[in-house]
Amino acid sequence: EAVIHWFKRDLRTRDNTGLSLASKRAKEIGVGVIGVWILSPQDWEAHLVSPAKCDFELRSLAVLKKDLEDLDIPLYIEVVEERQQLPARLVELAENWGVKDFFCNIEYEVDELRREQKLVKMMLGKGIRFEPQHDDCVVTPGQLQTGAGRQYAVYSPWFRAWVAYLHAHPDVLTERHPPERNPPDFKQKFSSLFESAIPSAPSSKTLTSEMKKRLEKLWPAGEHAAVDRLQHFLTEKIGKYHATRNFPSKNSTARISVHHAAGTLAGRTSVRLARDVNSTKKLDGGIEGIKGWISEVAWRDFYRHVLVHWPYICMNKPFKFEYTNIEWEYSDEHFDAWARGQTGYPIVDAAMRSLNSTAYMHNRLRMVTASFLAKHLLLDWRLGEQYFISHLIDGDFSSNSGGWGFSSSTGVDPQPYFRVFNPWLQSSKFDEDGEFIRQWIPELASISGKGIHNPYETGGEAADVAKKNGYPKPIVEHRFARERCLSRYKAGIGRN
Ligand code: FAD
Repeated sequence: EAVIHWFKRDLRTRDNTGLSLASKRAKEIGVGVIGVWILSPQDWEAHLVSPAKCDFELRSLAVLKKDLEDLDIPLYIEVVEERQQLPARLVELAENWGVKDFFCNIEYEVDELRREQKLVKMMLGKGIRFEPQHDDCVVTPGQLQTGAGRQYAVYSPWFRAWVAYLHAHPDVLTERHPPERNPPDFKQKFSSLFESAIPSAPSSKTLTSEMKKRLEKLWPAGEHAAVDRLQHFLTEKIGKYHATRNFPSKNSTARISVHHAAGTLAGRTSVRLARDVNSTKKLDGGIEGIKGWISEVAWRDFYRHVLVHWPYICMNKPFKFEYTNIEWEYSDEHFDAWARGQTGYPIVDAAMRSLNSTAYMHNRLRMVTASFLAKHLLLDWRLGEQYFISHLIDGDFSSNSGGWGFSSSTGVDPQPYFRVFNPWLQSSKFDEDGEFIRQWIPELASISGKGIHNPYETGGEAADVAKKNGYPKPIVEHRFARERCLSRYKAGIGRN
Protein backbone atom coordinates (compact mmCIF):
# COMPACT_ATOMS: atom_id res chain seq x y z
CA GLU A 1 0.00 0.00 0.00
CA ALA A 2 2.98 2.31 0.42
CA VAL A 3 6.78 2.52 0.36
CA ILE A 4 8.70 3.82 3.39
CA HIS A 5 11.78 6.02 3.39
CA TRP A 6 13.30 6.16 6.87
CA PHE A 7 15.06 9.52 7.33
CA LYS A 8 18.09 9.59 9.59
CA ARG A 9 21.15 11.68 8.81
CA ASP A 10 19.65 12.81 5.50
CA LEU A 11 17.13 15.50 6.39
CA ARG A 12 16.49 16.67 2.84
CA THR A 13 14.41 15.94 -0.24
CA ARG A 14 17.07 17.02 -2.72
CA ASP A 15 19.77 14.68 -4.03
CA ASN A 16 18.82 11.91 -1.62
CA THR A 17 19.57 8.39 -2.92
CA GLY A 18 17.26 6.42 -0.62
CA LEU A 19 14.32 8.79 -0.98
CA SER A 20 14.75 8.97 -4.73
CA LEU A 21 14.68 5.16 -5.06
CA ALA A 22 11.74 4.90 -2.68
CA SER A 23 9.82 7.31 -4.89
CA LYS A 24 10.78 5.39 -8.02
CA ARG A 25 9.65 2.10 -6.49
CA ALA A 26 6.37 3.60 -5.30
CA LYS A 27 5.63 4.81 -8.82
CA GLU A 28 6.45 1.40 -10.30
CA ILE A 29 3.93 -0.36 -8.07
CA GLY A 30 1.40 2.48 -8.12
CA VAL A 31 1.50 3.48 -4.44
CA GLY A 32 2.76 6.47 -2.39
CA VAL A 33 5.75 7.17 -0.15
CA ILE A 34 5.66 7.59 3.62
CA GLY A 35 8.59 9.37 5.28
CA VAL A 36 9.45 8.19 8.80
CA TRP A 37 11.67 9.83 11.40
CA ILE A 38 12.19 8.30 14.81
CA LEU A 39 13.67 10.15 17.73
CA SER A 40 15.58 7.87 20.03
CA PRO A 41 16.66 9.91 23.09
CA GLN A 42 18.93 7.07 24.17
CA ASP A 43 20.83 7.35 20.89
CA TRP A 44 21.37 11.06 21.46
CA GLU A 45 22.61 10.33 24.97
CA ALA A 46 24.85 7.44 23.97
CA HIS A 47 26.49 9.41 21.18
CA LEU A 48 26.85 12.60 23.23
CA VAL A 49 24.99 14.61 20.59
CA SER A 50 25.18 18.28 21.56
CA PRO A 51 22.01 20.20 22.47
CA ALA A 52 22.92 22.56 19.61
CA LYS A 53 22.89 19.71 17.11
CA CYS A 54 19.65 18.24 18.50
CA ASP A 55 18.02 21.65 18.12
CA PHE A 56 19.37 22.01 14.58
CA GLU A 57 18.00 18.60 13.61
CA LEU A 58 14.57 19.38 15.02
CA ARG A 59 14.49 22.71 13.20
CA SER A 60 15.56 20.97 9.98
CA LEU A 61 12.87 18.37 10.50
CA ALA A 62 10.19 21.08 10.41
CA VAL A 63 11.49 22.24 7.02
CA LEU A 64 11.62 18.67 5.71
CA LYS A 65 8.07 17.97 6.87
CA LYS A 66 6.77 21.02 5.03
CA ASP A 67 8.68 20.16 1.82
CA LEU A 68 7.38 16.60 1.87
CA GLU A 69 3.84 17.76 2.52
CA ASP A 70 4.03 19.95 -0.56
CA LEU A 71 4.34 16.62 -2.42
CA ASP A 72 1.52 15.02 -0.39
CA ILE A 73 4.15 12.85 1.33
CA PRO A 74 3.62 12.55 5.10
CA LEU A 75 6.53 12.66 7.54
CA TYR A 76 5.51 10.35 10.35
CA ILE A 77 7.40 11.17 13.55
CA GLU A 78 7.59 9.11 16.71
CA VAL A 79 9.67 9.00 19.88
CA VAL A 80 10.96 5.55 20.82
CA GLU A 81 12.45 5.74 24.30
CA GLU A 82 14.53 2.55 24.21
CA ARG A 83 16.84 2.38 21.25
CA GLN A 84 16.82 -1.44 21.32
CA GLN A 85 13.13 -1.25 20.43
CA LEU A 86 13.64 0.79 17.30
CA PRO A 87 14.00 -2.04 14.73
CA ALA A 88 10.91 -3.86 16.06
CA ARG A 89 8.90 -0.63 15.96
CA LEU A 90 9.93 0.08 12.36
CA VAL A 91 8.86 -3.41 11.30
CA GLU A 92 5.57 -2.95 13.11
CA LEU A 93 4.89 0.35 11.36
CA ALA A 94 5.69 -1.18 7.98
CA GLU A 95 3.29 -4.05 8.65
CA ASN A 96 0.53 -1.74 9.89
CA TRP A 97 0.72 0.27 6.69
CA GLY A 98 0.97 -2.72 4.35
CA VAL A 99 4.49 -1.77 3.27
CA LYS A 100 6.63 -4.24 1.31
CA ASP A 101 9.52 -1.92 0.39
CA PHE A 102 11.55 -0.06 3.00
CA PHE A 103 14.37 2.34 2.08
CA CYS A 104 16.97 4.29 4.03
CA ASN A 105 20.53 5.57 3.65
CA ILE A 106 23.34 3.75 5.46
CA GLU A 107 25.13 5.19 8.48
CA TYR A 108 28.54 3.60 8.88
CA GLU A 109 29.20 3.78 12.63
CA VAL A 110 29.25 0.47 14.48
CA ASP A 111 26.06 0.92 16.53
CA GLU A 112 24.12 1.96 13.46
CA LEU A 113 25.42 -0.87 11.30
CA ARG A 114 24.49 -3.39 13.98
CA ARG A 115 21.00 -1.90 14.15
CA GLU A 116 20.64 -2.11 10.37
CA GLN A 117 21.87 -5.70 10.38
CA LYS A 118 19.16 -6.56 12.86
CA LEU A 119 16.61 -4.80 10.65
CA VAL A 120 17.69 -6.76 7.59
CA LYS A 121 16.92 -10.03 9.39
CA MET A 122 13.63 -8.84 10.86
CA MET A 123 12.37 -7.38 7.59
CA LEU A 124 13.36 -10.46 5.61
CA GLY A 125 11.43 -12.57 8.09
CA LYS A 126 8.31 -10.52 7.36
CA GLY A 127 8.75 -10.51 3.60
CA ILE A 128 9.65 -6.79 3.45
CA ARG A 129 12.40 -5.68 1.06
CA PHE A 130 14.85 -3.61 3.09
CA GLU A 131 17.00 -1.44 0.83
CA PRO A 132 19.68 0.56 2.68
CA GLN A 133 21.62 2.76 0.25
CA HIS A 134 25.12 4.17 0.07
CA ASP A 135 24.56 7.92 0.02
CA ASP A 136 26.56 9.65 2.73
CA CYS A 137 29.96 9.52 1.00
CA VAL A 138 30.67 10.98 -2.41
CA VAL A 139 32.60 7.81 -3.28
CA THR A 140 31.20 4.68 -1.66
CA PRO A 141 33.56 3.13 0.92
CA GLY A 142 35.35 0.13 -0.52
CA GLN A 143 35.69 1.54 -4.05
CA LEU A 144 39.22 2.92 -3.62
CA GLN A 145 42.17 0.62 -3.03
CA THR A 146 45.92 0.87 -3.10
CA GLY A 147 47.91 -1.05 -5.73
CA ALA A 148 48.20 -3.84 -3.15
CA GLY A 149 44.41 -4.00 -2.81
CA ARG A 150 44.25 -2.35 0.60
CA GLN A 151 42.41 0.63 2.05
CA TYR A 152 44.50 3.80 2.04
CA ALA A 153 45.71 5.04 5.41
CA VAL A 154 47.30 8.19 3.94
CA TYR A 155 45.21 11.05 2.61
CA SER A 156 47.19 12.31 -0.43
CA PRO A 157 47.29 9.10 -2.50
CA TRP A 158 43.73 8.36 -1.39
CA PHE A 159 42.64 11.80 -2.67
CA ARG A 160 44.29 11.21 -6.04
CA ALA A 161 42.42 7.91 -6.29
CA TRP A 162 39.17 9.66 -5.21
CA VAL A 163 39.54 12.27 -7.97
CA ALA A 164 40.49 9.68 -10.61
CA TYR A 165 37.47 7.56 -9.65
CA LEU A 166 35.07 10.49 -9.96
CA HIS A 167 36.52 11.59 -13.27
CA ALA A 168 36.15 8.02 -14.55
CA HIS A 169 32.59 7.66 -13.16
CA PRO A 170 30.94 11.05 -13.67
CA ASP A 171 27.48 9.55 -12.96
CA VAL A 172 28.42 9.19 -9.31
CA LEU A 173 28.11 12.96 -8.97
CA THR A 174 24.84 13.24 -10.87
CA GLU A 175 21.95 14.65 -8.86
CA ARG A 176 19.50 11.98 -7.71
CA HIS A 177 16.02 12.25 -9.16
CA PRO A 178 13.74 14.29 -6.88
CA PRO A 179 10.81 12.51 -5.20
CA GLU A 180 7.50 12.66 -7.06
CA ARG A 181 4.12 13.76 -5.77
CA ASN A 182 2.12 11.00 -4.09
CA PRO A 183 -0.98 9.68 -5.90
CA PRO A 184 -4.12 11.83 -5.53
CA ASP A 185 -5.98 9.51 -3.12
CA PHE A 186 -2.97 9.05 -0.81
CA LYS A 187 -3.57 11.97 1.49
CA GLN A 188 -7.11 10.87 2.20
CA LYS A 189 -6.11 7.26 2.81
CA PHE A 190 -3.27 8.05 5.20
CA SER A 191 -4.56 11.35 6.58
CA SER A 192 -3.57 10.64 10.20
CA LEU A 193 0.10 10.32 9.22
CA PHE A 194 0.15 13.97 8.24
CA GLU A 195 -0.57 15.03 11.80
CA SER A 196 2.78 14.28 13.48
CA ALA A 197 4.13 17.16 15.51
CA ILE A 198 7.83 18.08 15.75
CA PRO A 199 8.89 16.76 19.18
CA SER A 200 10.71 18.83 21.76
CA ALA A 201 14.26 17.96 22.72
CA PRO A 202 14.63 15.81 25.85
CA SER A 203 15.42 17.87 28.96
CA SER A 204 19.12 16.91 28.94
CA LYS A 205 19.40 18.38 25.44
CA THR A 206 17.51 21.63 25.93
CA LEU A 207 19.21 24.93 25.13
CA THR A 208 18.72 28.10 27.12
CA SER A 209 16.38 30.42 25.24
CA GLU A 210 19.21 32.90 24.72
CA MET A 211 21.47 30.25 23.17
CA LYS A 212 18.60 28.92 21.08
CA LYS A 213 17.94 32.35 19.60
CA ARG A 214 21.64 32.91 18.91
CA LEU A 215 22.01 29.55 17.16
CA GLU A 216 18.87 30.05 15.08
CA LYS A 217 20.37 33.22 13.73
CA LEU A 218 23.84 31.80 13.13
CA TRP A 219 22.75 28.46 11.75
CA PRO A 220 19.49 28.64 9.77
CA ALA A 221 18.24 25.07 9.40
CA GLY A 222 16.96 22.91 6.58
CA GLU A 223 17.98 22.18 3.03
CA HIS A 224 17.05 25.55 1.52
CA ALA A 225 19.24 27.41 4.00
CA ALA A 226 22.01 24.94 3.15
CA VAL A 227 21.85 25.58 -0.57
CA ASP A 228 21.60 29.37 -0.04
CA ARG A 229 24.71 29.29 2.11
CA LEU A 230 26.58 27.13 -0.35
CA GLN A 231 25.60 29.34 -3.30
CA HIS A 232 26.73 32.43 -1.42
CA PHE A 233 30.09 30.80 -0.72
CA LEU A 234 30.47 29.66 -4.34
CA THR A 235 29.80 33.11 -5.75
CA GLU A 236 31.50 35.29 -3.14
CA LYS A 237 34.28 33.37 -1.41
CA ILE A 238 35.49 30.15 -2.96
CA GLY A 239 37.90 31.83 -5.39
CA LYS A 240 40.08 32.99 -2.50
CA TYR A 241 39.56 29.98 -0.25
CA HIS A 242 43.10 28.57 -0.66
CA ALA A 243 44.58 31.87 0.53
CA THR A 244 42.12 32.78 3.28
CA ARG A 245 40.88 29.51 4.77
CA ASN A 246 43.31 29.46 7.70
CA PHE A 247 42.42 32.86 9.14
CA PRO A 248 39.61 32.60 11.67
CA SER A 249 38.67 36.29 11.67
CA LYS A 250 38.21 36.41 7.88
CA ASN A 251 35.01 34.33 7.91
CA SER A 252 36.15 32.88 4.61
CA THR A 253 35.10 29.24 4.81
CA ALA A 254 31.72 27.86 3.74
CA ARG A 255 30.35 27.17 7.23
CA ILE A 256 28.28 24.30 5.94
CA SER A 257 29.66 21.43 8.01
CA VAL A 258 26.49 21.67 10.08
CA HIS A 259 24.48 20.83 6.95
CA HIS A 260 26.75 17.98 5.92
CA ALA A 261 26.48 16.57 9.44
CA ALA A 262 22.67 16.70 9.56
CA GLY A 263 22.36 15.65 5.94
CA THR A 264 20.48 18.80 4.98
CA LEU A 265 23.12 18.96 2.24
CA ALA A 266 24.83 16.00 0.58
CA GLY A 267 28.61 16.03 0.16
CA ARG A 268 27.89 15.01 -3.44
CA THR A 269 25.83 18.17 -4.02
CA SER A 270 28.62 20.35 -2.65
CA VAL A 271 31.28 18.73 -4.82
CA ARG A 272 29.13 18.84 -7.95
CA LEU A 273 28.16 22.50 -7.55
CA ALA A 274 31.75 23.50 -6.82
CA ARG A 275 32.97 21.55 -9.86
CA ASP A 276 30.37 23.24 -12.03
CA VAL A 277 31.67 26.72 -11.20
CA ASN A 278 35.25 25.67 -11.91
CA SER A 279 36.79 26.88 -15.16
CA THR A 280 37.95 23.36 -16.10
CA LYS A 281 34.88 21.49 -14.75
CA LYS A 282 37.42 19.22 -13.05
CA LEU A 283 37.91 18.40 -9.37
CA ASP A 284 41.67 18.79 -9.17
CA GLY A 285 42.51 21.59 -11.60
CA GLY A 286 41.43 25.07 -12.60
CA ILE A 287 40.71 27.71 -9.99
CA GLU A 288 42.96 27.22 -6.92
CA GLY A 289 40.25 28.04 -4.37
CA ILE A 290 37.78 25.59 -5.87
CA LYS A 291 40.36 22.83 -6.11
CA GLY A 292 41.36 23.43 -2.48
CA TRP A 293 37.79 23.46 -1.21
CA ILE A 294 36.84 20.23 -2.97
CA SER A 295 39.87 18.57 -1.39
CA GLU A 296 38.60 19.67 2.05
CA VAL A 297 35.15 18.24 1.43
CA ALA A 298 36.96 15.04 0.44
CA TRP A 299 38.50 14.80 3.94
CA ARG A 300 35.03 14.01 5.20
CA ASP A 301 34.86 11.02 2.84
CA PHE A 302 38.38 9.97 3.77
CA TYR A 303 37.60 9.76 7.49
CA ARG A 304 34.39 7.84 6.75
CA HIS A 305 36.29 5.34 4.62
CA VAL A 306 38.72 4.93 7.50
CA LEU A 307 35.84 4.31 9.89
CA VAL A 308 34.37 1.64 7.62
CA HIS A 309 37.67 -0.21 7.32
CA TRP A 310 38.88 0.19 10.89
CA PRO A 311 35.65 0.25 12.94
CA TYR A 312 37.54 -0.13 16.21
CA ILE A 313 37.98 3.66 16.16
CA CYS A 314 34.31 3.76 17.24
CA MET A 315 35.30 1.98 20.44
CA ASN A 316 37.54 4.60 21.97
CA LYS A 317 40.68 3.12 20.47
CA PRO A 318 43.31 5.22 18.74
CA PHE A 319 43.87 4.36 15.08
CA LYS A 320 47.55 3.79 15.86
CA PHE A 321 47.80 1.03 18.42
CA GLU A 322 51.33 1.98 19.38
CA TYR A 323 49.90 5.17 20.90
CA THR A 324 47.74 3.28 23.39
CA ASN A 325 50.29 3.45 26.17
CA ILE A 326 50.99 7.14 26.54
CA GLU A 327 50.94 8.12 30.18
CA TRP A 328 48.48 10.98 30.32
CA GLU A 329 48.14 13.55 33.07
CA TYR A 330 44.82 13.47 34.90
CA SER A 331 43.98 17.00 35.94
CA ASP A 332 40.34 18.06 36.21
CA GLU A 333 41.55 21.56 36.89
CA HIS A 334 43.48 21.77 33.61
CA PHE A 335 40.67 20.18 31.64
CA ASP A 336 38.20 22.64 33.11
CA ALA A 337 40.44 25.61 32.30
CA TRP A 338 40.77 24.37 28.71
CA ALA A 339 37.02 23.85 28.35
CA ARG A 340 36.11 27.27 29.75
CA GLY A 341 38.79 29.19 27.83
CA GLN A 342 40.90 30.04 30.88
CA THR A 343 44.30 28.55 30.02
CA GLY A 344 46.20 31.84 29.79
CA TYR A 345 46.95 31.14 26.11
CA PRO A 346 44.78 33.75 24.36
CA ILE A 347 44.28 31.96 21.04
CA VAL A 348 43.28 28.73 22.78
CA ASP A 349 40.91 30.58 25.10
CA ALA A 350 39.36 32.65 22.33
CA ALA A 351 38.75 29.48 20.34
CA MET A 352 37.15 27.61 23.25
CA ARG A 353 34.96 30.57 24.11
CA SER A 354 33.84 30.79 20.49
CA LEU A 355 32.89 27.10 20.62
CA ASN A 356 30.95 27.52 23.85
CA SER A 357 29.08 30.50 22.50
CA THR A 358 28.41 29.53 18.85
CA ALA A 359 28.63 25.70 18.89
CA TYR A 360 31.22 26.02 16.11
CA MET A 361 34.97 26.46 15.86
CA HIS A 362 37.16 27.36 12.90
CA ASN A 363 39.24 24.43 11.58
CA ARG A 364 42.64 25.98 12.31
CA LEU A 365 41.55 26.59 15.89
CA ARG A 366 40.21 23.07 16.26
CA MET A 367 43.74 21.91 15.48
CA VAL A 368 45.31 24.42 17.87
CA THR A 369 43.01 23.63 20.81
CA ALA A 370 43.17 19.88 20.23
CA SER A 371 46.95 19.92 20.07
CA PHE A 372 47.04 22.07 23.21
CA LEU A 373 44.91 19.61 25.17
CA ALA A 374 46.77 16.49 24.10
CA LYS A 375 50.31 17.87 23.96
CA HIS A 376 50.62 20.91 26.19
CA LEU A 377 48.30 19.69 28.93
CA LEU A 378 49.04 16.06 28.13
CA LEU A 379 45.42 15.16 28.77
CA ASP A 380 43.92 12.11 27.09
CA TRP A 381 42.72 13.24 23.63
CA ARG A 382 39.47 11.32 24.14
CA LEU A 383 38.39 13.86 26.76
CA GLY A 384 38.69 16.59 24.18
CA GLU A 385 37.05 14.50 21.48
CA GLN A 386 34.05 14.04 23.78
CA TYR A 387 33.92 17.69 24.73
CA PHE A 388 33.86 18.71 21.07
CA ILE A 389 31.18 16.24 20.04
CA SER A 390 28.96 17.28 22.94
CA HIS A 391 29.26 21.00 22.10
CA LEU A 392 29.59 21.24 18.31
CA ILE A 393 26.55 21.91 16.14
CA ASP A 394 28.35 20.09 13.31
CA GLY A 395 29.45 17.19 15.54
CA ASP A 396 30.22 14.23 13.33
CA PHE A 397 31.84 11.11 14.69
CA SER A 398 34.35 10.30 11.97
CA SER A 399 35.41 13.89 11.17
CA ASN A 400 35.80 14.66 14.86
CA SER A 401 37.65 11.45 15.62
CA GLY A 402 39.83 12.05 12.55
CA GLY A 403 40.60 15.62 13.59
CA TRP A 404 41.48 14.59 17.13
CA GLY A 405 43.57 11.71 15.87
CA PHE A 406 45.44 14.06 13.56
CA SER A 407 46.09 16.71 16.18
CA SER A 408 47.06 14.35 18.99
CA SER A 409 49.18 12.25 16.58
CA THR A 410 47.30 9.07 17.53
CA GLY A 411 45.09 8.90 14.43
CA VAL A 412 45.20 8.03 10.77
CA ASP A 413 47.74 10.04 8.69
CA PRO A 414 48.49 12.27 11.67
CA GLN A 415 50.70 15.19 12.49
CA PRO A 416 54.00 13.56 13.63
CA TYR A 417 54.09 13.43 17.43
CA PHE A 418 57.22 15.55 17.66
CA ARG A 419 55.49 18.45 15.90
CA VAL A 420 54.05 20.38 18.82
CA PHE A 421 52.15 23.50 17.79
CA ASN A 422 53.45 26.60 19.51
CA PRO A 423 50.16 28.39 20.33
CA TRP A 424 51.82 31.82 20.28
CA LEU A 425 53.27 31.27 16.82
CA GLN A 426 49.95 29.89 15.56
CA SER A 427 48.30 32.95 17.00
CA SER A 428 50.64 35.52 15.48
CA LYS A 429 50.54 33.75 12.13
CA PHE A 430 46.81 33.14 11.76
CA ASP A 431 45.41 35.98 13.88
CA GLU A 432 48.17 38.45 13.22
CA ASP A 433 46.38 41.58 14.43
CA GLY A 434 44.67 39.76 17.28
CA GLU A 435 41.25 40.49 15.82
CA PHE A 436 39.85 37.09 16.73
CA ILE A 437 41.28 37.24 20.23
CA ARG A 438 39.81 40.71 20.77
CA GLN A 439 36.41 39.46 19.68
CA TRP A 440 36.34 36.67 22.28
CA ILE A 441 38.49 37.85 25.17
CA PRO A 442 37.24 41.22 26.41
CA GLU A 443 39.87 41.15 29.18
CA LEU A 444 42.56 41.62 26.51
CA ALA A 445 40.67 43.75 23.98
CA SER A 446 42.44 46.98 24.87
CA ILE A 447 45.95 45.61 24.30
CA SER A 448 47.47 47.13 21.20
CA GLY A 449 50.11 45.34 19.19
CA LYS A 450 51.67 41.90 19.39
CA GLY A 451 51.45 41.58 23.16
CA ILE A 452 47.89 40.34 22.79
CA HIS A 453 49.22 36.93 21.72
CA ASN A 454 51.07 36.30 25.01
CA PRO A 455 50.58 39.24 27.39
CA TYR A 456 52.46 37.89 30.43
CA GLU A 457 55.54 36.86 28.42
CA THR A 458 55.52 40.21 26.64
CA GLY A 459 55.28 42.11 29.90
CA GLY A 460 54.78 45.89 30.14
CA GLU A 461 51.39 47.33 29.22
CA ALA A 462 50.11 44.00 27.88
CA ALA A 463 50.79 42.19 31.15
CA ASP A 464 49.31 45.08 33.14
CA VAL A 465 46.05 44.97 31.20
CA ALA A 466 45.82 41.18 31.47
CA LYS A 467 46.44 41.28 35.20
CA LYS A 468 44.12 44.18 35.87
CA ASN A 469 41.27 42.45 34.01
CA GLY A 470 41.80 39.10 35.72
CA TYR A 471 43.03 37.20 32.66
CA PRO A 472 44.86 34.06 33.94
CA LYS A 473 48.57 33.41 33.59
CA PRO A 474 49.50 30.41 31.39
CA ILE A 475 48.48 27.27 33.30
CA VAL A 476 51.44 25.42 31.87
CA GLU A 477 54.76 26.78 30.75
CA HIS A 478 55.32 26.33 27.00
CA ARG A 479 58.91 25.01 26.93
CA PHE A 480 58.29 22.65 29.84
CA ALA A 481 55.08 21.37 28.20
CA ARG A 482 56.83 20.73 24.92
CA GLU A 483 59.64 18.71 26.49
CA ARG A 484 57.22 16.73 28.66
CA CYS A 485 55.11 15.91 25.62
CA LEU A 486 58.06 14.68 23.58
CA SER A 487 59.40 12.46 26.32
CA ARG A 488 56.00 10.98 27.28
CA TYR A 489 55.03 10.24 23.69
CA LYS A 490 58.42 8.68 23.03
CA ALA A 491 58.23 6.54 26.14
CA GLY A 492 54.63 5.52 25.34
CA ILE A 493 55.47 4.35 21.85
CA GLY A 494 58.60 2.60 23.16
CA ARG A 495 56.49 0.61 25.62
CA ASN A 496 54.95 -1.48 22.81
P1 FAD B 1 35.12 24.47 4.90
O1 FAD B 1 36.53 24.84 5.10
O2 FAD B 1 34.29 25.37 4.08
O3 FAD B 1 35.11 23.00 4.29
C1 FAD B 1 34.00 22.48 3.55
C2 FAD B 1 33.51 21.18 4.12
O4 FAD B 1 34.51 20.17 4.04
C3 FAD B 1 33.15 21.25 5.59
O5 FAD B 1 31.83 21.74 5.73
C4 FAD B 1 33.29 19.80 6.03
O6 FAD B 1 32.12 19.05 5.73
C5 FAD B 1 34.43 19.30 5.16
N1 FAD B 1 35.71 19.39 5.88
C6 FAD B 1 36.59 20.42 5.88
N2 FAD B 1 37.68 20.12 6.61
C7 FAD B 1 37.49 18.87 7.08
C8 FAD B 1 38.25 17.99 7.90
N3 FAD B 1 39.47 18.34 8.36
N4 FAD B 1 37.74 16.79 8.22
C9 FAD B 1 36.54 16.42 7.73
N5 FAD B 1 35.76 17.19 6.96
C10 FAD B 1 36.24 18.40 6.63
N6 FAD B 1 34.13 18.60 11.01
C11 FAD B 1 32.85 18.23 11.18
O7 FAD B 1 32.06 18.35 10.24
N7 FAD B 1 32.42 17.71 12.37
C12 FAD B 1 33.24 17.56 13.44
O8 FAD B 1 32.81 17.07 14.49
C13 FAD B 1 34.60 17.97 13.30
N8 FAD B 1 35.47 17.89 14.34
C14 FAD B 1 36.78 18.27 14.17
C15 FAD B 1 37.66 18.15 15.25
C16 FAD B 1 39.01 18.52 15.10
C17 FAD B 1 39.95 18.37 16.27
C18 FAD B 1 39.45 19.02 13.87
C19 FAD B 1 40.87 19.42 13.69
C20 FAD B 1 38.58 19.14 12.79
C21 FAD B 1 37.23 18.77 12.92
N9 FAD B 1 36.31 18.90 11.86
C22 FAD B 1 35.01 18.49 12.03
C23 FAD B 1 36.75 19.35 10.52
C24 FAD B 1 36.63 20.86 10.23
O9 FAD B 1 37.18 21.61 11.26
C25 FAD B 1 35.21 21.34 9.96
O10 FAD B 1 34.57 20.49 9.05
C26 FAD B 1 35.21 22.76 9.39
O11 FAD B 1 35.82 23.64 10.29
C27 FAD B 1 33.80 23.21 9.09
O12 FAD B 1 33.73 24.54 8.67
P2 FAD B 1 33.31 24.90 7.18
O13 FAD B 1 32.02 24.24 6.84
O14 FAD B 1 33.36 26.37 7.05
O15 FAD B 1 34.48 24.21 6.36
